[in-house]
Amino acid sequence: MSDSKDPANLEHRYSTFSQALDQRQDSDRLRDLEAMDRVAPSNNFCSNDYLGLAQHPALKERAQAFIQQWGNGATASRLVSGTLPPHQQVEQKLADFTHRERALLFNSGYQANSTLIPALCDRHTLLLVDKRAHHSLLFGALASRGRMIRFRHNDVSHLKALLEKRAGSAQRIMIITESVFSMDGDRAPLEEIAEVADNYEVLLYVDDAHAIGILGPEGRGLASQVDRIDLLIGTFGKAFGSSGAFVAGDGVLIDYLVNFCSGFIYTTGMSPAILGAVDAALETIPGMKDERERVSRLADQLREKFQKLNLDSDRSDSQIVPAIVGEDTKALELAGYLEKQGIICSAIRPPTVPEHTARLRFTLTALHEEADLTQLINLLKAYQGVHH
Ligand SMILES: *Cc1c(COP(=O)(O)O)cnc(C)c1O
Repeated sequence: MSDSKDPANLEHRYSTFSQALDQRQDSDRLRDLEAMDRVAPSNNFCSNDYLGLAQHPALKERAQAFIQQWGNGATASRLVSGTLPPHQQVEQKLADFTHRERALLFNSGYQANSTLIPALCDRHTLLLVDKRAHHSLLFGALASRGRMIRFRHNDVSHLKALLEKRAGSAQRIMIITESVFSMDGDRAPLEEIAEVADNYEVLLYVDDAHAIGILGPEGRGLASQVDRIDLLIGTFGKAFGSSGAFVAGDGVLIDYLVNFCSGFIYTTGMSPAILGAVDAALETIPGMKDERERVSRLADQLREKFQKLNLDSDRSDSQIVPAIVGEDTKALELAGYLEKQGIICSAIRPPTVPEHTARLRFTLTALHEEADLTQLINLLKAYQGVHH
């Protein structure tokens, strides 16, 4: 018998993996994990904690109270014995918050998208997915084994043309998009897409991850404003300052998902601590109007300042403000320079974004002040002065 721990054997068994890593290294795209001491919020431009709720005392207290009352874990999957009263209470609050009949919790947005779509679509389904949709949506669409066609980003006429061509042949059709896109910070024309979905009588699935809590009246997000959206996905890892996700929609759909969605059925129920944080967030968010207005104002100011520095923010219309610089090396250099000055933002490179559109991606939160933008802009000006 060969020794499975023999280095020569390991090298052989793992060779394809180490080769893939070497390739990444060669193209300067190898990534690794670095523990981050909490950076001062004022210097952090890559956090999704849009409302600062990750450190909010009301959420921490409620999480602790729920642990005291319900324990550390749900102890089983929801259909077995893992449904506690707070699961149902929070689900009802989420349904009310998004103006839907019912809601269902998931442990993460990735888990929700990657398992909801295969539960709702099969190989006879045509899935029309926005070209820039989040990876979890693509993953779900692929896992459904349906026929997937990507429509041009936010292009309603392209969507219509595809529906026109295909409407007769597929048994079921689902349009999949986001409300605010994570890499560009632009918004989908939800009303128009809903009208198309209505005209062609097809299902509409919208991921509201970057809007819920921070955009829309009382922070109810953008998808909640459009009734015709059949499946509304929200996540708690961003403006809700916690983790987890939910889907909201008609009672029939939720009943169906309880019975057919693997990512709901075969996983442990959400833990009480998270339920507590979400419960408190749902009470706190509607009153955070000032914070939402400030974030929106800061985003306007940043886009204006970027424009003056000839930095392209493309169609950003949210708290996510990219500065598109073009080539990978340029984005990395600039991010590295800012980091040396104590400011962090993310350098986003292909394949996450299209080739030649490497960018720095800045996110604004309620923890930022105008002075933080001034400091950032001054640093960018200094950098440009040297590199021109
Ligand atoms: C962040 C994000 C997700 C993933 O949510 P998690 O709860 O972090 O897994 C899904 N969809 C979109 C559009 C996102 O931005």
